[in-house]
Amino acid sequence: MNIFYCLLLLNLQILNLPQPNIALSIINYTLMKLDLLVFAVHPDDAELSCGGILLAEKMKGKKTGVIDLTRGELGTRGTIEIRKEEAAVAAQILQLDVRENLQMDDGFFKNDEINQRKVIVALRKYRPEIIFCNAPEDRHPDHGRSAQLVEDAAFLSGLRKIETCDQGKAQQEWRPKYVFNFIQDTYLSPNFVIDISDVMEQKLEAIKAYGTQFNSPDMSEPQTYISSPDFLDSIIYRSKMFGKMIGVNYAEGFISKKMIGFNSFDAFIKVNT
Ligand SMILES: [Zn+2]
Repeated sequence: MNIFYCLLLLNLQILNLPQPNIALSIINYTLMKLDLLVFAVHPDDAELSCGGILLAEKMKGKKTGVIDLTRGELGTRGTIEIRKEEAAVAAQILQLDVRENLQMDDGFFKNDEINQRKVIVALRKYRPEIIFCNAPEDRHPDHGRSAQLVEDAAFLSGLRKIETCDQGKAQQEWRPKYVFNFIQDTYLSPNFVIDISDVMEQKLEAIKAYGTQFNSPDMSEPQTYISSPDFLDSIIYRSKMFGKMIGVNYAEGFISKKMIGFNSFDAFIKVNT
């Protein structure tokens, strides 16, 4: 598949026209394979909900990334440009290998073919073993909708007859082994929790990188649900509560539709609780 065919395919996809059925040869090109990839609908969702495990896994040598689906342009505070800068600073604190933005419409994006294809392209580009998405239900309606979009795309990405291109090259199918939901505003019971005690301080630093969104005394913009000091406290309390369940100081909790398998009991935390 050459770049012209890829552009043609992209245009046909955007115009929702039938695509030509041509036998294509896959061209191999350099890929950065990630171990963990987070798909979060708003910049700052990843930091709030799974910033700890991103950093904890990075410390263990894993490759990590965040794909933000929207630019958070409907947020009461800040602008697209400022939020982009904040996301870049947070990415540095979390030592991410990759951070991209798919520029879907904040508040109005649909779980449709165009957006599913955007997620599929990212999945096939980075070929992560494990992905994370927003909570299946939450205060913000974008969260549950984006979670379903990512889950659907993760399945479709494994179907070889769905053709996609990146940088003018045909992509090969890829399906991540696990799709986990992180837990955000509404309390949802986790299926498993992971110790983030060693990186809790940096997780909070990454959240505070979003100066326009969270408690910042010098901000002149209107107060919002998430800008009060109580909101940041609630993040800490939630992490403490999940930590207490497994006998550590802080943890993050996740939901899995799929049964999780272990190779041995070595990975278990052995603390009396
Ligand atoms: Zn959000």
